[in-house]
Amino acid sequence: MDFLVLAPPVCTPAEPPSGAFMLACGLAGRGYDTGFLDLSLAFFHRALDGEKTRAALDYLHGATDGYEPMRHRSATGLLHKQLQRFEQAHPGWKLTLMDLQTPSRLHDPRGLARLLQEAPSPFTSLWADVLDPVIEAQGPGRVLLSIAYLAQLPAAIDLARFLESRGITPVVGGSLPTSLALTGHGIDALKDVFPDIISGDGLDLIPHGQSERMLDRLSWPNILSDKPYLSARPIIPIALSSGCYWNRCLFCPDRTLGFARVPIDAVAGLLETIPDSLKEARPVVHLLDSALPPDALERFLALSRCHQIGFYGFARPTEKLLQNGLLEQAAQNGCLMLQLGAESGSKPLLNRYHKGIDPAETEQVLRTAAQAGIRTYLYLLFGLPGETEQDRKATLDLVVRNATEIDFLNLSLFNLPRYCALTERPTQFGIELSDFPGDRDCIRLYWPFSCNGSNPRDDARRFLKTTFNPHPLVHRAQLRTPRWLRAAHLALMKLPRRN
Ligand code: SF4
Repeated sequence: MDFLVLAPPVCTPAEPPSGAFMLACGLAGRGYDTGFLDLSLAFFHRALDGEKTRAALDYLHGATDGYEPMRHRSATGLLHKQLQRFEQAHPGWKLTLMDLQTPSRLHDPRGLARLLQEAPSPFTSLWADVLDPVIEAQGPGRVLLSIAYLAQLPAAIDLARFLESRGITPVVGGSLPTSLALTGHGIDALKDVFPDIISGDGLDLIPHGQSERMLDRLSWPNILSDKPYLSARPIIPIALSSGCYWNRCLFCPDRTLGFARVPIDAVAGLLETIPDSLKEARPVVHLLDSALPPDALERFLALSRCHQIGFYGFARPTEKLLQNGLLEQAAQNGCLMLQLGAESGSKPLLNRYHKGIDPAETEQVLRTAAQAGIRTYLYLLFGLPGETEQDRKATLDLVVRNATEIDFLNLSLFNLPRYCALTERPTQFGIELSDFPGDRDCIRLYWPFSCNGSNPRDDARRFLKTTFNPHPLVHRAQLRTPRWLRAAHLALMKLPRRN
């Protein structure tokens, strides 16, 4: 085996971690013998194994005609009860289906390394039982360790150390080191714990042409996990583009990333190489784009039709989605759900940050998508600098007016990225940057800030608690939205009038 790509715990057990999986597909697409081992999936199978969870796991694996929202809620509730055992076995550690808390701070790689040296690690037996046999059988030329989330950091540190003890120095990369190197703070702290760290799409690992990108050629890698993902239909992550086609929002940390399309032939190459056993299980493609370019979505429909696959992804709710019956065509060709980044119901607020979204268009997109049978998952952002009570009420009004069209809700509070157009000229937006607390050597993706002496996040929290969340129509949408295993499971949720 030329390359072994590893994904350390914890990331969602519902689908392959996208960055690690796409890297493996890119290497396989160039003819390298590439194995992909999701150690997070193995970790969750161990943590969830037991008599008490059998029925819940069977349901999550077996509901091939869709999940009932209430049954899904009680099944994931049972799994969470079981995960509390992890906390009992490892005091100070806390595990959920999407996150991990540690006795020391996740943002401090050096502190985590010390912690894992001083106390027994919750992961070591997993490496010995699951990884050792793979290394022995496959003898990989290079081992790549891909990290996308902070929650993977403790296991990644422990895993790198374990590999070193086997005489293997892993190459560490992924979207976490890449964003830290580009727009965050703390890459030096990571370099302290991972001697061989790279940023970028992984192309530097192989000989390549100057303008080539990792996603230009894709093929199915050798999947080495012997356990199924927690999903009734297999979820396959695929990107149609990298960067963002809009690339103008002033608070976006990724504006420095160039936008590039993934050649449609590469996407087709990956779909054609999906193993037959997986094809028979009616896979669903998770389109990974930061924002689906409407023309790329249109081109993708020929592939989803040809391969008879379902799909879902994140889109900007603009009139471009309404042109030429795109949403109706998408619905007829497998679109199960659109995650719609509306952010706010206030046009002046959206304009101030160059979002390029008009709430009136958002409403039209919601109506058209819902009528076509596409599940709608609305993303809202509260706490932007300068957000007023009137702006927040406009957002509530938008939700209330479209309550029957909105299936699921995602609410988040604004974080100010360490580097973005707003931090370059904060006074223009009434932002006062606060100093970082005394942990300058730690990972920092966001900057503490205030506006006129108060924190807009606090105002937003208050509004959510007292006005937004208690509204009966909001509450109903929140009840439909499972807390865990989003968004893959939302695309599979049984709802009246949706495909
Ligand atoms: S749409 Fe999203 S990814 Fe694109 S520029 Fe705006 S915030 Fe960034």
